[in-house]
Amino acid sequence: MQISKNKSKKAKIISCPICQKPLEQAFRPFCSKRCADIDLSRWLNGHYAIPVTEEDGSIPRPFGNENLEE
Ligand SMILES: [Zn+2]
Repeated sequence: MQISKNKSKKAKIISCPICQKPLEQAFRPFCSKRCADIDLSRWLNGHYAIPVTEEDGSIPRPFGNENLEE
């Protein structure tokens, strides 16, 4: 009989940062995979917030200039 009813341990209740629901062990620190995905997408959106510049910087040479070289 070592069951102590009055536990002095103060369990810190952490809720899902996305929807504030109780956490699910399998999806910590979130309550569900959906919230984990939401957080991930948020993170990715923030991470890739840099506007994508087109790598194709090759400027097509106007015809005629090369002919002038000769
Ligand atoms: Zn959640």
